[in-house]
Amino acid sequence: MLQNKIQEVFNEPGCSKNQSKSDKERKKGCTKALQPGGAAGGCAFDGAKIALQPITDVAHLVHGPIACEGNSWDNRGSKSSASQLYRTGFTTDINELDVVYGGEKHLFKSIKEIIDKYDPPAVFVYQTCVPAMIGDDIEAVCKAASQKFAKPIIPVDSPGFVGAKNLGNKLAGEALLDYVIGTEEPEYSTPYDINIIGEYNLSGELWQVKPLLDHLGIRVACCISGDAKYHDVAQSHRARANMMVCSKSMINIARKMEERYQIPFFEGSFYGISDTTESLREITRLLIQQGAPAELHDRTEALIVREEARAWQRIAEYTHRLRGKRVLLFTGGVKSWSVVSALQEGGMEVVGTSVKKSTREDKEKIKELMGQDAHMIDDMTPREMYKMFQEARADVLLSGGRSQFAALKNKMPWVDINQERHHAYNGYEGMVNLVKQIDLALYNPMWTLLRKPAPWDMREVRA
Ligand code: SF4
Repeated sequence: MLQNKIQEVFNEPGCSKNQSKSDKERKKGCTKALQPGGAAGGCAFDGAKIALQPITDVAHLVHGPIACEGNSWDNRGSKSSASQLYRTGFTTDINELDVVYGGEKHLFKSIKEIIDKYDPPAVFVYQTCVPAMIGDDIEAVCKAASQKFAKPIIPVDSPGFVGAKNLGNKLAGEALLDYVIGTEEPEYSTPYDINIIGEYNLSGELWQVKPLLDHLGIRVACCISGDAKYHDVAQSHRARANMMVCSKSMINIARKMEERYQIPFFEGSFYGISDTTESLREITRLLIQQGAPAELHDRTEALIVREEARAWQRIAEYTHRLRGKRVLLFTGGVKSWSVVSALQEGGMEVVGTSVKKSTREDKEKIKELMGQDAHMIDDMTPREMYKMFQEARADVLLSGGRSQFAALKNKMPWVDINQERHHAYNGYEGMVNLVKQIDLALYNPMWTLLRKPAPWDMREVRA
């Protein structure tokens, strides 16, 4: 069954990368063998956990040795407006006896213990490598536990060995489609209901956009999965339109919801002023197409005029300090282009952007923004990045934590743009934040001190 599911994900028609492959290539999936010295990203289990852990009021139970949960627990800053249960690490912590005799009873007991102690609206059970290899049938256990405790117990069959993090994201989406979405009916729905898919509310980014939507009377029926509640996900099939903010991770949810529930979707971004504006326009267009009153259009345009003006006014404080600064952007997916436009709006020059995890559409968008000669970096070793900073071909690095040392060793500023970041960069508000953080990093007085020769070296020169 798992093999069928994986093949279904590899055949996903919404993924252009899949569709450009031959049947034989498609069967192999997208995971590439690593070069010696390369560090692997997360496993498929990690990807599934990342995608679903932001559902805040459910218990996330990891069936496996304790290190699987230890490695994946709470490693992202996904915020919740209510329940904090999602941040409690639950694991069956299986041992040698479970490996010999099977861990299914142990799993059932753990589910019971969670329900007795916490009574969450649902329990998500994650499969990992060891119990998958000894043949523990988590689907059967979840089914039996659902019947026994009269509560949704959701199996997430994504053991680490089946592939990389991105495959895990999609298998998590399949679990929602198979067991959660469409299983409950909402008390009411409105013509202004939308779902946002692939937004994880990192550092509270969803909350930078929600006030804009609230102002227009647009209701986020469900965000999959940032700050989500179980019942909202179960009822999300009644929304009128879907916005997908990260095409690579959950395209299967958006496409299958369109197929099953006739909910149209678009891919958008809330990074940068123009992308935020475009996304608001597209949400409005889809809602009107689905039956919302046409006056929504005028209200959206009025909001855009007001908010853009406000954001530009605040950014103007920084643009004269940032104009012409050269930025190396080392991130992936939708951020490879959406952040480019955000930086250009802040007056900066993007000297290169990484496209390792980008789709064909992402690359086209980069060319639109940076021109046909855009410096798209497929892969850059830390040594090459270090050299680039040594030759002063960039003034600041925007990347995830793993690449930071290439800049820092060269005494160059670095701004965290990946999932572990502590600042929120969504919407008009987020753009002002991003520009402010880059300004703070570039003009930190520490750099002047750090670039001066050390006092003991100066003594040697004088001598
Ligand atoms: S690869 Fe397997 S054993 Fe390792 S963390 Fe992932 S699920 Fe656990």
